[in-house]
Amino acid sequence: MNNVGETAKRAFTEAYGTEPAGLWAAPGRVNLIGEHTDYNDGFVLPFALPQRTVAAAGPAPDGRWSVCSTLAPEPVSFGVTEPGEVSGWGAYVAGIVWALQDAGFEVPPARIAIASDVPLGSGLSSSAALESAVLTALIDLGGLEVPTDRRPAIAQRAENVYVGAPTGILDQSASIRCLAGRALFLDCRSYQVEQIPFDLAAEGLAILVINSNAPHQHVDGEYGERRKSCEAAAAALGVPALRDVSTAELTQALERLDDDVLRRRARHIVTENQRVLDTVSLLRSGRVREIGPLLTASHASMRDDFEITVDQVDVAVQASLEAGAYGARMTGGGFGGCVLALIDADRADATAAAVADAYRQRDFTAPTSWVATAGPGAARI
Ligand code: ADP
Ligand code: MG
Repeated sequence: MNNVGETAKRAFTEAYGTEPAGLWAAPGRVNLIGEHTDYNDGFVLPFALPQRTVAAAGPAPDGRWSVCSTLAPEPVSFGVTEPGEVSGWGAYVAGIVWALQDAGFEVPPARIAIASDVPLGSGLSSSAALESAVLTALIDLGGLEVPTDRRPAIAQRAENVYVGAPTGILDQSASIRCLAGRALFLDCRSYQVEQIPFDLAAEGLAILVINSNAPHQHVDGEYGERRKSCEAAAAALGVPALRDVSTAELTQALERLDDDVLRRRARHIVTENQRVLDTVSLLRSGRVREIGPLLTASHASMRDDFEITVDQVDVAVQASLEAGAYGARMTGGGFGGCVLALIDADRADATAAAVADAYRQRDFTAPTSWVATAGPGAARI
């Protein structure tokens, strides 16, 4: 058990005066490639971070759900609710209870204490980690039979309907279905997954994650805007989703769109899906270094066509490449958040220093960098 587990256990005992029945952990994630493709029925390739959210949980004698978090000032307590009745951070937890009930499960009343070392609001999916830890705890506490492949959609419904954030299936799938040492190749239409070997250390490589620490601005509005553009482009092309346009059909498809913004949004999604497929085939055949140019191309596409990057992430990508990275890209929904760079394992400090230096020259808030290895998905610990 790591420190986060200990902290959650202690928080539980302090809040409820008894020992928890168990501890359940769910990780944050980085997406190696495949950005904004999830809600276009496309492909994504995340891996789970070692950073995780732990729910210490046990039965509740009062028939309610009570939850506290070391990262939130106020505890929350609720009975059976409908979306909208619990707001703030407690909505993620009430959303899970509601979504499980709405799927027909009898959810056991529970007392829960949360601790986490996933950075909040940095595009590493602390929200999905929270949802997935609570979901897994409630399923186990109640002995509910919810197959793993159904769980991400339940957690996603909590976030979409209860919290009111129109996110795709990527984050919850990653937090729930990832395995240590693997990247999760997910088809967001069929929910089929393939666990792709992703042992960088064996190749002398590493992924450096650089948190830009840039303030998130207009994220929800811009996200909704991008979704609408993608739906409009698919409708204009007469396909169910942009996933149904191949790169071979792209030029012709773009000619049929009369709006330049829609054309660029569609081009990002179609080319990004192909980059995920190309990355997967390279990883399957052990050609890890060669995914670098795909990562960098993905960044250019997000910057120029999808327009979801900010100066801080563009500078981090550029500085990483200049420091010798094989490839680098923003990861996560955009407008701030994190960059990942594929580097030689012994270049982590030098790359992090190069990015920090570039930030200093521009008077940006200092970045935070660390090497990320692929950890396990949600489970009892
Ligand atoms: P991200 O998922 O990229 O970290 P989001 O805005 O989707 O960013 O989710 C962050 C929100 O999730 C926080 O503002 C908070 O409401 C909630 N949250 C996540 N983790 C925790 C936690 N450990 N304790 C309390 N609230 C949390
Ligand atoms: Mg989130």
